[in-house]
Amino acid sequence: MPAIELPTSLIPADGRFGCGPSKIRDEQLAFLSSLQPTVLGTSHRQAPVKNLVGSVREGLAQLFRAPEGYEILLANGGATTFWDSAVHSLISRRSQHLTFGEFGAKFGAAAAAAPFLEEPTIRKAEPGSRSELLPQAGVDVYAYPHNETSTGVMADVRRAAGDGVDPGALTVVDATSAAGGIDFDASETDVYYFSPQKNFASDGGLWFALVSPAAIERIEQQTNGDRYIPESLNLAGALSNSRLNQTLNTPALATLALMDEQVRWINDNGGLSWAAARTAESSGVLYEWAEKSEVATPFVADPQHRSQVVVTIDFDDSVDASAISKALRENGIVDTEPYRKLGRNQLRIATFTAIEPDDVRTLTGAIDYVLERL
Ligand SMILES: *Cc1c(COP(=O)(O)O)cnc(C)c1O
Repeated sequence: MPAIELPTSLIPADGRFGCGPSKIRDEQLAFLSSLQPTVLGTSHRQAPVKNLVGSVREGLAQLFRAPEGYEILLANGGATTFWDSAVHSLISRRSQHLTFGEFGAKFGAAAAAAPFLEEPTIRKAEPGSRSELLPQAGVDVYAYPHNETSTGVMADVRRAAGDGVDPGALTVVDATSAAGGIDFDASETDVYYFSPQKNFASDGGLWFALVSPAAIERIEQQTNGDRYIPESLNLAGALSNSRLNQTLNTPALATLALMDEQVRWINDNGGLSWAAARTAESSGVLYEWAEKSEVATPFVADPQHRSQVVVTIDFDDSVDASAISKALRENGIVDTEPYRKLGRNQLRIATFTAIEPDDVRTLTGAIDYVLERL
């Protein structure tokens, strides 16, 4: 028996509010089952799996309204592996990174550790706010997260532009927790990369990227043999394999299947603008709740910076936020704990596309109920 037992009316239909792995819809599981035995457990070099990969690539291009010449790449390893791939086969000499949380900082650290690159420029902002790009001669990659999952800060997708930006410099956006949940203009990026376990409600293990013709050209230049590049990190290989709906080594077929169904679901419902309206509704419910609350406040002070897919809510010292998460967890409402390294008295709640806005409304009632009884 939970110490605080929620009435059934305050238990969301689905209690998963984590930032990844995140809620998977039943329809995705049904689609996965439907691929038994024709696709699951069959060769990734044959048509059934290649067609599945092709469907995901086409669906993503449609979802992102991919401009002429942009392509969808994929490979094994997730966004973390993409950072290492970018360090080896995308950055020529020097990168600039906006860091306003854990994930932006990790890419910056990967570039800083590479002995063949110049020291990157790191533009850091305190967690809960964000920094801006600075035009800088000699920088050939400008990198930032579309959504910083560790803090719930969102940025606009804008190309590095203006005096002082070298011609040919690329804008590279970590969209792991944004893609499929926030609308954006693809022509404002050269590389928009992500893992599938957030708004795409799939499992981890792969990365996907929407890449511009300029990014493709850069990959081709960077991988011409002047620099040693481990084969699994070589983006030229990802490019040539992706064009054939293939991966260098075996991909997770279940991840692709869950992904395919989620992309189709979003496209069939109206695409990115529909998804963005849904996540804005869900996050709006939480921010409004926090602003009205006596004990809670949105962690991100500037409403313009507040994420519509990852909501962070601070509690004042009279409340132990970890006790709220614990009570919720005992009632089957999981993963509302804050990002572990942020170390705040906070709840972090995903409002990804798969999550029902009504479940978020129910969640606010559940939190109120717990607060009255702690
Ligand atoms: C989750 C996340 C990552 C890491 O993704 P992996 O699949 O674990 O490598 C990177 N960037 C952002 C913004 C994320 O939210």
